Amino acid sequence: MEASFIRNKMYPLPGCKNKTGLKNLFNLKKTPPTRRINNMKKSIQENLAERILIIDGAMGTMIQRHKLEEADYRGERFKDWHTDVKGNNDLLSITQPDIIIGIHKLYLEAGADIIETNTFSSTVIAQADYDMQSLAYELNVESARCARLAADEYTAKNPSKQRFVAGAIGPLNKTLSLSPDVNNPGFRAVTFDEVAAAYTEQIKGLIEGGVDILLIETIFDTLNAKAAIYAAKKFFRETGKPELPIMISGTITDASGRTLSGQTLEAFYVSVMHANPLSVGLNCALGAAEMRPHIEELSQICSCFTSAYPNAGLPNAFGEYDEQPHETAHIIEEWAANGWLNIVGGCCGTTPDHIKHIADEVAKFKPRALPFVEKNI
Ligand SMILES: [Zn+2]
Repeated sequence: MEASFIRNKMYPLPGCKNKTGLKNLFNLKKTPPTRRINNMKKSIQENLAERILIIDGAMGTMIQRHKLEEADYRGERFKDWHTDVKGNNDLLSITQPDIIIGIHKLYLEAGADIIETNTFSSTVIAQADYDMQSLAYELNVESARCARLAADEYTAKNPSKQRFVAGAIGPLNKTLSLSPDVNNPGFRAVTFDEVAAAYTEQIKGLIEGGVDILLIETIFDTLNAKAAIYAAKKFFRETGKPELPIMISGTITDASGRTLSGQTLEAFYVSVMHANPLSVGLNCALGAAEMRPHIEELSQICSCFTSAYPNAGLPNAFGEYDEQPHETAHIIEEWAANGWLNIVGGCCGTTPDHIKHIADEVAKFKPRALPFVEKNI
């Protein structure tokens, strides 16, 4: 969910032979496979027609509160790993699953209808920074199981409020549209096929772990997102598995209202509509105040559901987020009152308290109605 990976220094390491860390995961594997929206009382589309759904807040912000050290990240299984792994938050789904499940539960308790898996960087490409490419598939399976376990527990507690698991598919630390070499604008650090293959593995793992939705998020390069869409569609076509709904969430990175790869919001929307997504929306980079005009525009052009999960304001000089829960919720309340929203929550810097305030504020408003789209033009 977070873009902090761009700044983080990451370190590589090779395969690990220590299997003892797997033991504490067996309990997760024994949990009943409730899963899949098809088996639930209502589909997510039916839920969205009735009310504004709440998506959770930042995983990274909550992980920071645990003040984990290198040894905590490694756990028993990776204690001899050849370089540092501190900062590889996705690894915690394997080495500290109780912490990840605990964070999911805090967001569910706060009112989240949709929780995101801890898989923002669980691809062979992003994990290369830690030399943990071989773990990419397992990270997705185990993270999805953590979220599934927590979501099912809360659905069982209150069956009238179904909880959904969205498999988080991050943007990668390599882009298809931009050259990392200023002297060679035609150079690309990665190919479309490599990106699509990385996403295919991630999607396979997420589905194995039991997610309800695929969430392609924090998109700053639309071509990377298109590779993820391509990977998902191809996977469903080739395996014959039931297609899961896809949520698509872009990131506007500057005041001109464009993505990092230079698209306006409307161009971005047109670029991804062929995926027939459940929702298109925005997350990260901006606080709610800065995101407001873009959400208004999106609500006017979007023929599917809309989503918005802004950061807790803009970061201060230390990269921290100061916007308080009631402040974020107050801005978002107006969006809901204007009928712009179908799914809303928080990104970097937001906490369960932010989510609770947002959930309380939007509960009194009807969701945005889907526009009628003329098919015979
Ligand atoms: Zn973010």
